[in-house]
Amino acid sequence: MSAQLIDGKLIAGQVREEVAANVAKRIAAGKSKPTLATVLVGERVDSATYVSSKQKACAELGMGSVSKNLPADISQEELERIIKSLNDDKSVHGILVQLPLPSHLNEERVLQLISVEKDVDGFSPLNIGRLAQRGREPLFVPCTPYGCIYLLDKAGVQIEGANAVVLGRSNIVGMPAALLLMSRNATVTVCHSRTKDLPSLTRNADILIVAIGKAEFVRGEWIKPSAAVIDVGINSKPDATKKSGYRLVGDVNFDEAKEVAGFITPVPGGVGPMTIAMLMKNTLRAAEIQNP
Ligand code: NDP
Repeated sequence: MSAQLIDGKLIAGQVREEVAANVAKRIAAGKSKPTLATVLVGERVDSATYVSSKQKACAELGMGSVSKNLPADISQEELERIIKSLNDDKSVHGILVQLPLPSHLNEERVLQLISVEKDVDGFSPLNIGRLAQRGREPLFVPCTPYGCIYLLDKAGVQIEGANAVVLGRSNIVGMPAALLLMSRNATVTVCHSRTKDLPSLTRNADILIVAIGKAEFVRGEWIKPSAAVIDVGINSKPDATKKSGYRLVGDVNFDEAKEVAGFITPVPGGVGPMTIAMLMKNTLRAAEIQNP
């Protein structure tokens, strides 16, 4: 293996320790306990799992959490009423609406309602708009892309002036990752399902961020020697040697890519643990903004 492994689990652990220490300091100084409200609509097993790991992280870091578990058939009006009451609740500093919402609900209207100071997921149009404009700072950066950039910085990868290629343009990963790279003065190419000849573009990438949701899609020969590769994808692949019958793999063929890249994140243990760590960092920041 020639690539240096970027250990997301280790780095996320360091972020969490730092957050926990600052939370303890706040509380010792008599300030409010940073508190996250999670809003879960319906009973999707994956969404329920994500929400419970976010609540568990709050408890582990000495932060508070409030959970709103709502029925799948909740009306738009009722959901909006709950978001408004969380906006008004001074004991809540961050609000996280677990996506996707059931299809009868208007996600955009719900996200738009979250007070910008409590938008710890960074998905409200105001936060994304600020991220997209030069000279403006979002209050919160979306957690997964924030984690990707944090890993690049920790690995000592130069972002300014680099050719960065982002595979995927979703609202939650690809698009904000591209905006963040641009704000750090990388030259950014964004690729998607209609992009022609992907390998010719990825081979030019000093930094390659992949978030498409296709198991081991990016091959070793698509990667520029010494590039930094951040694999966001989480896919399950049948594996008869595992008790569960499957194992998790990323969007990048790790075994091939590690022979070519300069830096690479593994799956699992790369970007995944960073997402919750950055959510905790954002929730602490929300408390600091609201009750300095
Ligand atoms: P989406 O399905 O919302 O977006 C996928 C993107 O990939 C789209 O922009 C799509 O293009 C593009 N795409 C799909 N197929 C191809 C292809 N063959 N070639 C080029 N581009 C393609 O996914 P998400 O962004 O939500 O998630 C991406 C992956 O990241 C998933 O595996 C998900 O599980 C994982 N993830 C991991 C997180 C973590 O914490 N580590 C957090 C969030 C997601 P188009 O726009 O044209 O449709």
